[in-house]
Amino acid sequence: MKQKIARNLQRLLGKDKVFSTPEDLYCYSYDGTFLTGSPVAVVRPTSSQEVAAVVRLAAAERIPIVPRGAGTGLSGGAVPEADSIVLDMTAMNRILEIDRNNMLAVVEPGVVTASLHRAVESMGLFYPPDPSSSHVSTLGGNIAECAGGPRGLKYGVTRDYVLGLEVVLASGEIIECGGKTVKNVSGYDLTRLLVGSEGTLGIVTRAYLRLIPRPAGRETLRADFKYIDQAAEAITAVISAGILPAALELMDDVTIRCVENYLHTGLPLDVEAILLIEVDGPAAILGEQIRHIAALCAQCGAARVKVAQNDAQAAELWRARKAVSPALVQIKPTKISEDATVPRSQVPALIGAIKDIARKYRLTIAIFGHAGDGNLHPNLLVDKSDSDEMARAEAATAEIFQAALSLGGTLSGEHGIGILKAPFLALEYGPAGVDVMKKIKDALDPQGILNPGKVFGRS
Ligand SMILES: Cc1cc2nc3c(=O)[nH]c(=O)nc-3n(C[C@H](O)[C@H](O)[C@H](O)COP(=O)(O)OP(=O)(O)OC[C@H]3O[C@@H](n4cnc5c(N)ncnc54)[C@H](O)[C@@H]3O)c2cc1C
Repeated sequence: MKQKIARNLQRLLGKDKVFSTPEDLYCYSYDGTFLTGSPVAVVRPTSSQEVAAVVRLAAAERIPIVPRGAGTGLSGGAVPEADSIVLDMTAMNRILEIDRNNMLAVVEPGVVTASLHRAVESMGLFYPPDPSSSHVSTLGGNIAECAGGPRGLKYGVTRDYVLGLEVVLASGEIIECGGKTVKNVSGYDLTRLLVGSEGTLGIVTRAYLRLIPRPAGRETLRADFKYIDQAAEAITAVISAGILPAALELMDDVTIRCVENYLHTGLPLDVEAILLIEVDGPAAILGEQIRHIAALCAQCGAARVKVAQNDAQAAELWRARKAVSPALVQIKPTKISEDATVPRSQVPALIGAIKDIARKYRLTIAIFGHAGDGNLHPNLLVDKSDSDEMARAEAATAEIFQAALSLGGTLSGEHGIGILKAPFLALEYGPAGVDVMKKIKDALDPQGILNPGKVFGRS
């Protein structure tokens, strides 16, 4: 059966776009989580028509299809269902157009996010969504997860920049929704429905992305706080002063220790939290803004405030934040990265709750993330071969979700539901809310072949 599927796919796309040896399949068996799955074949199409042909074949044979970008997802979205066909979208990686007059880009889904950043910035334009994985993640994966990142506070998330999509449906039909106009209220907003749908409603084969002018300059500072509550106060103080930073990132004491242990860059080990704050915009106002933020941090009790004096110093401040993921895996082999998100004012309460949960379950939980928009990343550092520790981690995760929801928040600010959070979706939406989503899924994918097991779990 497996060989027959591979042969049929080769007939459609040619031998060089189909992979089915055990070694090939192993490379596609995982994503950024600790989960794994075994596909039957991997295809790497180079056009929308090829994607449609593969989907038609899968529909006829009722074979699950798992779209995949760079595989950096943190909820299990690209982990293959057993005996599925993985659609590796990375060969559809052309920036088709950068339209300066209409301030938009037309891209294929396999474009690496940072490549688009570089291309548009060289033309004085800006594509703000910037997940911390942007040097590897693809725009298709960003769209499917509605990726966020540090710039979400000021600039919003991927959804806010997707003007239109070309999508291959579960039937193999190709549709376009939205397009090059900034305004569009024709019929239902299918573009918004598809963004964040985690590959369960359609395969994105082209995207129209809104661009804005590139900010003229940026200023960055780091503030160290002996107590985490002081950092939380500083976040409120900055935002209530009417300043909207381009990034407002928090690292707690556990995270700081892990990063220092990894980078040896002189991070303070005597504080409970550091904030990394960046403002951008017209150069004339930035100096005053960053001084104002530094003063507010000092008023809230910052032990030290370090303002970067040039680009190299700003990059050095960011280096610590960007090293968080590799630093954490030095501590334990398995990292469960959550993204519980609450209204900004509830960040201190969520941090307190997570610290209590860590103590209760005897776990190391590093907390960092985009505190300015209430999006924290509690990372549980565990060892998946230790069944007792994994059971404690599972119970702790459920309590973190409950804490976020009881504070008016959500299970996921940017990583999606995937497999990992599927059992908890009804906690947020209730059975009736989940039922509405299931009806949409059934209408668009009646055979359930598009990324099954994701968002709703296995039925
Ligand atoms: C170190 C690190 C830092 C990260 N930081 C952030 C962050 O700051 N903010 C953030 O939001 N996320 C972050 N992430 C998570 C992840 O990078 C994002 O979710 C990203 O958008 C995934 O892109 P990808 O190309 O790797 O997608 P994949 O992991 O390959 O796939 C993700 C989902 O998209 C679907 N998919 C992929 N391509 C398509 C397509 N063409 N059509 C339909 N569905 C598709 C897949 O089926 C899957 O459900 C981080 C991950 C890591 C490892």
